[in-house]
Amino acid sequence: MLLKSNVDKLKTLVPKDNVLTSLEERYCYAEDSTNRNLESSLPDAVIFVESIEEVQRVLKYANAHKIPVISRGAGTNMVGACVCSNGGIVLNFSKMNKILDFNPVNMTIKAQPGVILGDIKKLAESKNLFYPPDPSNYKVSTIGGSIAQSSGGAMSFKYGTTKDYILSLKVVLADGTLVVLGAGTVKDAVGYHLNQLIVGSEGTLGIVVEAELKLIPKPETSRVIVAYFNSIDDAVVGVNSLLSAHVFPATIDFMDKNSIITVEEFYPCGLKTDSEALLLIEIDGFESSMDVQTALVKESLTGANASSISILSNQNKIESMWTARRASFAATAKLAPDVVSDDIIVPRCKLAEMVNGCKNICDKYNLKACIVGHVGDGNIHPQIALNLDDENEFRNYINAKTQMYELALALGGTISAEHGVGTEKISYIEHTVDKKALDYMKKIKLLFDPNNILNPGKVFKI
Ligand SMILES: Cc1cc2nc3c(=O)[nH]c(=O)nc-3n(C[C@H](O)[C@H](O)[C@H](O)COP(=O)(O)OP(=O)(O)OC[C@H]3O[C@@H](n4cnc5c(N)ncnc54)[C@H](O)[C@@H]3O)c2cc1C
Repeated sequence: MLLKSNVDKLKTLVPKDNVLTSLEERYCYAEDSTNRNLESSLPDAVIFVESIEEVQRVLKYANAHKIPVISRGAGTNMVGACVCSNGGIVLNFSKMNKILDFNPVNMTIKAQPGVILGDIKKLAESKNLFYPPDPSNYKVSTIGGSIAQSSGGAMSFKYGTTKDYILSLKVVLADGTLVVLGAGTVKDAVGYHLNQLIVGSEGTLGIVVEAELKLIPKPETSRVIVAYFNSIDDAVVGVNSLLSAHVFPATIDFMDKNSIITVEEFYPCGLKTDSEALLLIEIDGFESSMDVQTALVKESLTGANASSISILSNQNKIESMWTARRASFAATAKLAPDVVSDDIIVPRCKLAEMVNGCKNICDKYNLKACIVGHVGDGNIHPQIALNLDDENEFRNYINAKTQMYELALALGGTISAEHGVGTEKISYIEHTVDKKALDYMKKIKLLFDPNNILNPGKVFKI
């Protein structure tokens, strides 16, 4: 709990109107997309920072007084990564939302942490360039939050995740020190890659105050191929056979029957609701390659018993199909008071076992699950509609989730591909990560943040 003297001091470190302390205001920053525990995750204060120097001043003070500091972008993560485990200051970056530099020749963008991903993508595209990482909610999530979660998305299959687009970072450490990590060049072999340590660290090692990002040339054109199947196994065969045909699509996304039905009800766009599975495959490249790629994909999917295949080349139709896929979380949310989205990855050869296993586990516990995923990566998102306040349902959900993780690990996968650990998966990390590696992670944490003020209670317990 912050004392009045702490709040008074904080109001001298930043413009005083940027420090919020009323109960109503603090409630607004107590939640993320996990929809959990509003009361127990209330911050003591919310500070809107406007410059690197302000972040440094707040951190220096917080460190001296051992006050937790929790960075917050758009608050859309799915794992409780930006909620307060035990009070403290929420640092809000929505006023540090400027693009500082755009260099189309070098193909780089320099951005403050509060810039929305969609704005980065739009700016890049204005010069025929491309920033590929695309979490489904890229129109609202920030670059700071995406770096801290190492966000992926549908395009990760071909283009990688956020970690692959970081050229350098400016980071404020727990004691207020500013460090520059990375040379800003496309390649950099000088010393340890500390910027990669910050990526995915969920705000527990340092605070990103500026990021220089790599862009790539935008593919000339793209097409979307939508294929329906009468079984999940056929859909997975389709994924593997098109890859054996040496097609390298930008995305291979998946929706199961429940998702198809639920999305079609929420956002009617003509999905075939009598199918068991849908694959959403985007191919991109030169126009001259489109027919060849399309023919190979069609041949592979036909061989895998696709019940229907359609090719979309009209940009509005492509956009509408992606809107449908990306609406799956919101659509599932309409089914019950709450919705939780999980994130599991297995080697692609185990995908059918994982998807069918998740369905069986959710059925066993009477949970309504809509399963979507970036299946080119072997990554699935079981989205479960439930009432978190219903004790029985909540217990069933925890049991189901534990069994899904056990299955993922048994199949040679892991318990998060792109959403991170936060508070939601903290109790599973000991069973997931090599014990000695976990010990090293804890040593690194304490080296960066000896007082454990940066987003405490996330990723692992100290
Ligand atoms: C509908 C929906 C769909 C999604 N789809 C995907 C998907 O396909 N792929 C995917 O990977 N994710 C997905 N996500 C998760 C989410 O998009 C990412 O985790 C997101 O990029 C987080 O950005 P944010 O701005 O909301 O960060 P927040 O939720 O505010 O914060 C996330 C983490 O970053 C830390 N943080 C924030 N800013 C900073 C900073 N400046 N310095 C250091 N740490 C910081 C926070 O403390 C927290 O630990 C989805 C979420 C939703 C709601």
